[in-house]
Amino acid sequence: DKRLVSGTKDDEDKTEQSLRPQRLSQYIGQAQLKHKLSVYIKAAKQRQESLDHVLLYGPPGLGKTTLAMVIGNEMGVSIKTTSGPAIEKTGDLVALLNELQPGDILFIDEIHRLPKAVEEMLYSAMEDFYVDIVVGQGPTAHPIHFPLPPFTLIGATTRAGLLAPPLRERFGIVEHMKYYDTDDLEQIIKRSSKIFKIKIKANGAHEIARRSRGTPRIANRLLKRIRDFAQVSGQKAIESDIVDRALHLLGIDDAGLDSVDLKILNTMIKFYSGGPVGLNTLAANIGEETDTIAEMYEPYLLQIGFIKRTARGRVVTKAGYDHLKIPYNKIS
Ligand code: ADP
Repeated sequence: DKRLVSGTKDDEDKTEQSLRPQRLSQYIGQAQLKHKLSVYIKAAKQRQESLDHVLLYGPPGLGKTTLAMVIGNEMGVSIKTTSGPAIEKTGDLVALLNELQPGDILFIDEIHRLPKAVEEMLYSAMEDFYVDIVVGQGPTAHPIHFPLPPFTLIGATTRAGLLAPPLRERFGIVEHMKYYDTDDLEQIIKRSSKIFKIKIKANGAHEIARRSRGTPRIANRLLKRIRDFAQVSGQKAIESDIVDRALHLLGIDDAGLDSVDLKILNTMIKFYSGGPVGLNTLAANIGEETDTIAEMYEPYLLQIGFIKRTARGRVVTKAGYDHLKIPYNKIS
């Protein structure tokens, strides 16, 4: 099941809300980012100002939405959440902005998918806290200057490069969310187990952590599926052996890779001698969207060093060949 490791939200994640840490101190991992944010938050509160606009970018499921909500709690302000595709017209944006109290946060997920006109309206809203609304039509049409309370925009996107430079430049705080290491994921899994009242042994948490692609959402999702396997097989607590068996059945290998990852690596090796190959060519070959590969699959394969980027395209590394147990006979 490809969705299991996709990292994107789906209906199954309704329980996600209950798993979200509320405060910065409960937010696991991302130590540097947390430290910086705590300074910015403290400074803004001391000055009794709204926090600078924040852009969070990184693969899905790493905790961008959660962090936005945590920032709201730490600032002691309300947060309105929406997404790029949900704001269809400039009027929708005005309606959202109009509801904000001074200091409030507007969170826009997938901010790279805002319609152009909406994005342009954000420029003055972010920079000088006003929007110009055109009223009337034809010769009587004229702009009205509409002042806004100072607010904080938190934008989330999978890739910062997808954002138009004028928008990107209006964020005072731009932060890259990193994949979590195994220790952090283990902590997240133990915390979620407590909330779900699931019994789990340390080796079980470690094994799930190791195979969750550095992504909290995937870790939580695997935990729930593995709980089913443990329960049905009569195991009282989740241990590494049941994790291993369950993940095998779910088509997730020892490194946490799924069938699409393996297809990517195998296609690169069998049809392109390991690369270099362009992203579009690769996507066409395996029948996936280029964006899906660029946002969900490639970043993790790069992270664990199974592929690398070169000027002429992607290539499979020796580690990638080794993982597939295919002899590597290139001069490196
Ligand atoms: P994103 O917005 O980046 O796609 P989310 O904020 O929706 O990711 O996080 C996905 C899930 O992972 C949430 O259920 C959240 O509880 C959990 N999660 C993410 N980051 C952390 C963290 N640092 N500590 C604990 N849980 C986390």
